[in-house]
Amino acid sequence: MRLATIRTATGHRAVRLDGDSAVETGEADVRALLERPDWAEHAANADGPVHDAAGLDHAPLIPSPEKIICVGLNYRDHVQEMGNELPEYPTLFAKFAPSLIGARDEIELPPQSERVDYEAELTVVIGRSVRHADAEAARAAIAGYTVLNDVSMRDYQRRTKQFLQGKTWEHSTPLGPALVTADELPADPADGGALRISSELSGEIMQDSTTDQLVFGVVDLVVYLSTILTLNPGDVIATGTPGGVGDARTPPRYLTDGSEIVTSVEGVGECRNVARAVP
Ligand code: ZN
Repeated sequence: MRLATIRTATGHRAVRLDGDSAVETGEADVRALLERPDWAEHAANADGPVHDAAGLDHAPLIPSPEKIICVGLNYRDHVQEMGNELPEYPTLFAKFAPSLIGARDEIELPPQSERVDYEAELTVVIGRSVRHADAEAARAAIAGYTVLNDVSMRDYQRRTKQFLQGKTWEHSTPLGPALVTADELPADPADGGALRISSELSGEIMQDSTTDQLVFGVVDLVVYLSTILTLNPGDVIATGTPGGVGDARTPPRYLTDGSEIVTSVEGVGECRNVARAVP
């Protein structure tokens, strides 16, 4: 099943994507849908108003998550290009909801940063509350997967040891377009399955890897995070990005006014966003 949050003239709607059409589920967005214990059955049986899938205006998949948790340095090839040792523990940081945009929205390029970079990420969406999970409970808590482009203002990211100020600029982080349940995927990332993950900057391939390069897999991450706090429906876990980011290239490559950045995960979907300078 594939679920999305769309914008309509009268507000957000959570929809089920059925090929060429999108069927309203009666919930305002995918977080509200996932907060129903019967979300999967409810969404599968929904028969609300229908939209043409070609004309959808995608909101961020989860417009207001309780948590957006990001994992840094979690692909073997990216750890190497950044000149780091493989980590013993996950590197964690957060974003806030105002940074999120839809899968086709423009990325705001602030005049204060000259080094705006892209990061394609396989992203877990939580579908039930879980604390102190073992592997089985962690797997059961995963509603499905989506794509997040962890746009990063590298100059701000590197001002101090803490990443946050480079990671949560307003209207910078595409999330979506859809939540895809694991049964739809060619390989299940919870089983360590390899999905191609890539990014393309204005037509040129920049990142091209597979999700079996993850140092900490999706189940490991849910177990680890649920030790720290309760994960709740609609929480978003961006699992890190593979090698090929613009800042690690020679010469470096950054998003500039009018650049188109496409971030994709095989079977999950793609975010396709134009970067736009804002005053
Ligand atoms: Zn990242």
